Amino acid sequence: MSKTKSSESVKVVVRCRPLNRKEESNGPAGGIVQMDLRLGQVILRNPRASASEPQKTFTFDAVYDANSKQRDLYDESVRPLIDSVLAGFNGTIFAYGQTGTGKTYTMQGAWLDPEKRGVIPNAFDHIFTHISRSQSDKQYLVRASYLEIYLEEVRDLLDPNHGNARALELRENPESGVYVRDLTSCVCKSIKEIEEVMNVGNQARAVGATDMNEHSSRSHALFLITVECSQPGPDGRKHIRVGRLNLVDLAGSERQAKTGVQGERLKEAAKINLSLSALGNVISALADGRSSHVPYRDSKLTRLLQDSLGGNAKTVMVATLGPAPQHYDETLTTLRYANRAKNIQNQPRVNEDPKDALLREFQLEIARLRAQLNHRKWRSKQKKEQVDGEGWEGDGDEETEGEEEVEKEAEEYVKLQEQRLEREKQDIREDQFMLAEEKQRLLGEKERMMGDLRKEQEATEQLTAKYKAMESKLLVGGKNIIDHTNEQQKMLEMKRHEIAEQTRREREIQQQMLVQDDETVELKETFTSLQQEVEAKTKKLKKYLKLYAKLQCIKAEIQDVNDEHVRSRQELEQTQNELTRELKFKYLIIENFIPPEEKNKIMNRLTFDPEEDQWKFQPLVPAESKSSQMKKRPSSAVGYKRPISQYARVAIAMGAHSRYRAENIMFLELDMTPPNTATLDRATKSERNQIHSLDNSPTKDRGVCKSRSWCQTPKSITSSSSNVSLAACHTATPMTAQ
Ligand code: ADP
Ligand code: MG
Repeated sequence: MSKTKSSESVKVVVRCRPLNRKEESNGPAGGIVQMDLRLGQVILRNPRASASEPQKTFTFDAVYDANSKQRDLYDESVRPLIDSVLAGFNGTIFAYGQTGTGKTYTMQGAWLDPEKRGVIPNAFDHIFTHISRSQSDKQYLVRASYLEIYLEEVRDLLDPNHGNARALELRENPESGVYVRDLTSCVCKSIKEIEEVMNVGNQARAVGATDMNEHSSRSHALFLITVECSQPGPDGRKHIRVGRLNLVDLAGSERQAKTGVQGERLKEAAKINLSLSALGNVISALADGRSSHVPYRDSKLTRLLQDSLGGNAKTVMVATLGPAPQHYDETLTTLRYANRAKNIQNQPRVNEDPKDALLREFQLEIARLRAQLNHRKWRSKQKKEQVDGEGWEGDGDEETEGEEEVEKEAEEYVKLQEQRLEREKQDIREDQFMLAEEKQRLLGEKERMMGDLRKEQEATEQLTAKYKAMESKLLVGGKNIIDHTNEQQKMLEMKRHEIAEQTRREREIQQQMLVQDDETVELKETFTSLQQEVEAKTKKLKKYLKLYAKLQCIKAEIQDVNDEHVRSRQELEQTQNELTRELKFKYLIIENFIPPEEKNKIMNRLTFDPEEDQWKFQPLVPAESKSSQMKKRPSSAVGYKRPISQYARVAIAMGAHSRYRAENIMFLELDMTPPNTATLDRATKSERNQIHSLDNSPTKDRGVCKSRSWCQTPKSITSSSSNVSLAACHTATPMTAQ
């Protein structure tokens, strides 16, 4: 399956957004981020530090400042990756950074403004333009899925039932890696269709969230595109290459405050950044290179990105920064994180002829439908020629004749047959020597034959429609999509790509030169004069000074990393304490309110599912032996609600003994004599008023009930009846209280 296997590091680029209005109004301090675009460096100023403290410098594959254009970022840093995906590699682009630093802007941007379209819409254009311009012997199948991870649950954003849908499970396949089971995947034939898929998902994401900003800063969104391409190889067979592209907009990287929360909110808070801290741990473990264990399984996100980080994929990380001084700590953390990610080595390879390629299934299905259609054509042609009285000779041209001809032939055959049957029916009707019964039978037969004919025609039509629908899903290079770009634009595009490539190479060379500069000083140590010696020594001194500054930087970095570790440890301890408290609370309830035997029963049935990270109940009856363990109804219960003895059956048949007649309570005769009880008065206001008007004595009517049997019609109330009811009420209260 693998063709080219080599190691390459994760590409890390950094982008800083402009100061927003609020930050600008905060004061004249300006931004704390400076960028050297030529060298790919970010220089970070600590607003709280003294002027003498050295600034922190980080070097990346590319940096984009506040004035950078979406198009530049795409052409320089993303385009090569998409080209690789189109060639059959796996590719991942993920945006990482604090909330509000431009992750969504970079990934999606403003769709309607061509200048502000982000990575995702540009990738759509790129993929479909590439297909339209490729050779006509290539067939493509493009699929898209959209999911989000929210509170450690994977949710399908294309599921129409998104709001109520259950969380999806992750599965692993040795060939294609980790995947999401039952995830909706839409075949897309054009840019418009794939944009529609994106819109549907974005709407589901917005609907699912009460507060969009809050939600999006806590959930990770993954848009997945699979591009399958089939092309005949030198061996004459069609080979399929599958490129998978993950476009990831991560949740905000800032720490969520979780002090003083309990119960569900605590669990939520504990899960919010679990994926992100797991991502951090994975990156650290991979960048370190010495750790044998990479904790991919600690979160859903890291499992899904397993191939993208240290596996079979080409990966670009876009770290986004805000320039405001108040976010110095977060900006520094993002830069450190990004700096670490540079060291991750991936082993991308072309996915050639994987077993699960959908394109192969499509091709097989299309071939099967075509064969069926050809077979039908062959049959109708044969029948037609038999009808015409000619001997049919297979000329073996079924493969070469088009579908239109198939339809024409079938239609012609049906028409001829219909005409023939009508003629025959007419003949039968006009035949005076035939018996009426015989006529009826023959006419019925012809009618049936006509029905069969129509059914067959319908089946052929359905088959043709299915065949056409399947075939339309496959995109053929240079055919299905019309490329509106003219030659001049194409040239312009090409030039732009060349320039982007040139800039990238230049930057790489500059970075290499910078490293070599330091090393070459020592080589020039042969002096011819004192003057030269002084110069050389000065240079050396400068070098040592530089080294000293570097040392100071590294020391500061160590201090920063330590501080960060202490901070995160404190947070973890706090979460642990809160969880322990919660656990103690649950234990208290279990120990004191659940009988031990019930608890043991439940505990014996529980098993842990590591795939879903959940405790699950084992079914009471094992699924495979369900039918064998279910006892049959005893023969004495057939037709009855419960088993019944022979004696009782006889007794029922005799109808004598009332004891055996309880089988059906409806047979019991109810005693309809009015009960000797009284109810508390729920008489209406008007009735009470009536009582008032009849008897003004306050002791007789207040809170006193009248006697009224459930089977009697209400009577008009008299003063005497209310007196009686008082007495009755005293004796009957226990029975009527309800
Ligand atoms: P995030 O997704 O990281 O939370 P957003 O992408 O929503 O952040 O960006 C927050 C705001 O900043 C948006 O209004 C966006 O338009 C603006 N913004 C972000 N990056 C840039 C940029 N490079 N240029 C101009 N505006 C930007
Ligand atoms: Mg966002």
